[in-house]
Amino acid sequence: MGSRVCLVHYHEIGLKGKNRARFEHILMDNLKAALAAFSVATIVRISGHILVTFSVSGQAEEAYPLIARVPGVARVSLAFHTNREPHEYCAAAVRALAEVGEFASFKVAAKRSNTDYELTSIDLNRQVGEVLCEAYPDKKVQMHDPDATVHVLVVQGSVYVYARSERGVGGLPQGSAGKVMTLLSSGIDSPVATWMLARRGAVPVPVHFSGRPQTADTSEFLVRDIVDAMAPAVQIGRLYVVPFGDCQREISLACPASLRVIMYRRIMYSVVERLAGLEGAKAIVTGESLGQVASQTLENIMAVNEVVELPVFRPLIGSDKQEIIARAKEIGTYDISTQDAPDCCTLFMPRRPETHAKLDAVHEAWDMFDHDAMIDRLVENVEYVDFHSPCYRVPKALSVHHDDLMPAH
Ligand code: ATP
Ligand code: MG
Repeated sequence: MGSRVCLVHYHEIGLKGKNRARFEHILMDNLKAALAAFSVATIVRISGHILVTFSVSGQAEEAYPLIARVPGVARVSLAFHTNREPHEYCAAAVRALAEVGEFASFKVAAKRSNTDYELTSIDLNRQVGEVLCEAYPDKKVQMHDPDATVHVLVVQGSVYVYARSERGVGGLPQGSAGKVMTLLSSGIDSPVATWMLARRGAVPVPVHFSGRPQTADTSEFLVRDIVDAMAPAVQIGRLYVVPFGDCQREISLACPASLRVIMYRRIMYSVVERLAGLEGAKAIVTGESLGQVASQTLENIMAVNEVVELPVFRPLIGSDKQEIIARAKEIGTYDISTQDAPDCCTLFMPRRPETHAKLDAVHEAWDMFDHDAMIDRLVENVEYVDFHSPCYRVPKALSVHHDDLMPAH
């Protein structure tokens, strides 16, 4: 009957011309890391797919939904691997079709990647089709838009047969683009924004601003849970934590209440840009969505954005909350994000924050406290926690001056 294997399909990587081999290798490394808890036997390229085999039976079935969540995977199929004996691959086709659940119509789609096999794909379609018609006499063969398709892929020495196949998250393998710093709160939006950049091949390096010591450290644990929830499909190597409570207090004493939130944000962006310099990250990512809350008006975004030179990406700027919630549920962060945690957002919040900040007033408030010294201090006291990830490289500057950074407790 043949053993069970996962066949990974990718679209966008296939389009990348000369880069293709590099992208495939990154995807293979990421699959290996994502499947670390399984007994993977091999991960190899075969004829436009990546084949994952396991040394323990039953694991292909278990790993299949996880593989679908790895960035760069357009589709994953749960296949039977057989030799080239017709009775073997035809029997596998009968089993494969039984796995798709309810169906009324089907077709066979055979493909030969080696022309050394005596049957053409048309012959194969007919041969396997006849066996399936006998096995499922009440089902209809239908070429256009059938309920189920049995794929038969003939490669050198082997045949892969599958009907069960699931769409993956798509995108590009993580690590194929550079690093980005993401402003990660324990809210619903920024985990989704972080995930979206990871799906485009970036390596997100999240930075969380905690209200500590003015608040408890609950939000820090939630953010760690968020990183864990995205793993192992999406991998984050390091999370920075900035205890921000005392600085917020200082700002709240020095500046007009209505501009506090903008001051907090300007400090956050500045600190993150400094960390980006150390990390070699080329952009900053936030979870802002236009008009969602007071701080996310065009005027306020501009008033914050002007303190940094790096591009700031806001992948959710045009998304509705419902869409963001649906994605947060899919990636497994929603239940964590809806837990209550005091973080720096809720700390010293003015009753009426400015919604349409005037730049003159913003600049005046910015000079009411020593913002440069504050940024220096926050960067010096940044903490971090490391997670295992093959995509993330510890920055050189930090591995030399690691005394500056304390691992988060
Ligand atoms: P989220 O759901 O991501 O918390 P939000 O709807 O609560 O977003 P804001 O509070 O205005 O909106 O935050 C806007 C963005 O600023 C967040 O998406 C996040 O990128 C960043 N941000 C807010 N608070 C923090 C924090 N404590 N640490 C790091 N980044 C933060
Ligand atoms: Mg929030």
